Amino acid sequence: MIKIYNTLTRKKEEFVPLEEGKVRMYVCGPTVYNYIHIGNGRSAIAFDTIRRYLEYRGYEVNYVSNFTDVDDKIIRAAQELGVTASEVADRFIQAFKEDTEALNVKPATQNPRVMDHLPDIVQFIQALVENGYAYESQGDVYYRTRKFKDYGKLSHQSIDELEVGASQRTGEEQQRQKEDPLDFALWKAAKEGEISWESPWGPGRPGWHIECSVMATKHLGETIDIHGGGQDLEFPHHENEIAQSEAKTGKPFANYWMHNGYVTIGEDDEKMSKSLGNFITVHEMIREVDPQVLRFFMATTQYRRPIRYSEVTLKEAAANYQKLKIAFDNLSFRQADAAVTAGNESEMLAELAVLEARFIEEMDDDMNAANGITVVYELAKWMNQYSEQTAVSEKVIARALTLYKQLLEIFGIVFSTDELLDDDIDQLIVERNQARKDRNFARSDEIRDLLKDQGIILEDTAQGTRWRRGE
Ligand SMILES: [Zn+2]
Repeated sequence: MIKIYNTLTRKKEEFVPLEEGKVRMYVCGPTVYNYIHIGNGRSAIAFDTIRRYLEYRGYEVNYVSNFTDVDDKIIRAAQELGVTASEVADRFIQAFKEDTEALNVKPATQNPRVMDHLPDIVQFIQALVENGYAYESQGDVYYRTRKFKDYGKLSHQSIDELEVGASQRTGEEQQRQKEDPLDFALWKAAKEGEISWESPWGPGRPGWHIECSVMATKHLGETIDIHGGGQDLEFPHHENEIAQSEAKTGKPFANYWMHNGYVTIGEDDEKMSKSLGNFITVHEMIREVDPQVLRFFMATTQYRRPIRYSEVTLKEAAANYQKLKIAFDNLSFRQADAAVTAGNESEMLAELAVLEARFIEEMDDDMNAANGITVVYELAKWMNQYSEQTAVSEKVIARALTLYKQLLEIFGIVFSTDELLDDDIDQLIVERNQARKDRNFARSDEIRDLLKDQGIILEDTAQGTRWRRGE
């Protein structure tokens, strides 16, 4: 039985999907105006790991994650770069796909974009205007927050507490346009020179919160199983998503709300974010650190806990990753001389079954990846010991390796025995040197990274390029 910590109830609850064997899951995606930082990368990894675990447990997961491609920040970036907003969005959607692929995040079942949903968004807002949950004011449309009785149920705040904060946040001019400082924008009237769409309230564009309500309900239905996102989205973004969706449909919007923790950096464990300016992009990171190690580092912490990002914690992860790889290599090596049957086969298979059951027990408890990976370390130790035996059985090795790969894949880690041959390496180095001569640095970096993935370290000397296999 899988238990999930539900932000809505602040409790671990048994996971029961709407439809047996199927999971409808929505995760808030990035606003595509820049490369993602490792905090965003963590969110993608956390929910990919959750999805993979649900799949391992036999669920079919419909995983929808949006791209916010209509936003103030994108408009600003477009103005700065002298291109259109959709060009900015296209460019960083492509970058997002490349970065998450490097981190072995499975592509979503669907990645809806705001630009493709304008008619749906207008219709949704219209429904809210019609049932009295929204009103127009000087070309803007606002949500009548106080009318939604459950407002604050996700972030566990009372409407009065919220009111104080809201009136401090909004400017005077905006206040005048609203009936209540708590109200938030669903539609924003177009400003000079900005991208805009026609609507019953005049030209304008949607607010950020409404976009997710529309895309989630359109692609997954009025009620979904799991809604996920970073902890920073809990309020106001997710609170507003609930208010909008439930006011329109009269049904619960999401049964389980899951939030991943921050990545912190520096001695004060400051949250990493674009606005604080202390972020490292995934794009930069994966040129320095093996993306598999980065994936391993972030996937093996329980998703709700913060991750302390530092050179030390990253090195620790790299060392653990290496240990796991060695166990894989050791046992794979014994496949060559394994006997069809050997020794206490059934006992060995039973031990493996016990390890798998323990893994499931740990992960079923709110996807506790930290405890889950501890069981995988035990399996690695078991494999190392088995590799040392004089006579090993084909069947036991096959079972152990299959289980090992299966469990590591949940964390997005894939080991393979296909090593590069020396001749291939020499050939790639010749190609890389040529690329450098041609000043084709993209290609030369690509080759360096490819070799690095295989544990090949290059050293450029005056006499040419030398290479060696890393530890
Ligand atoms: Zn969202």
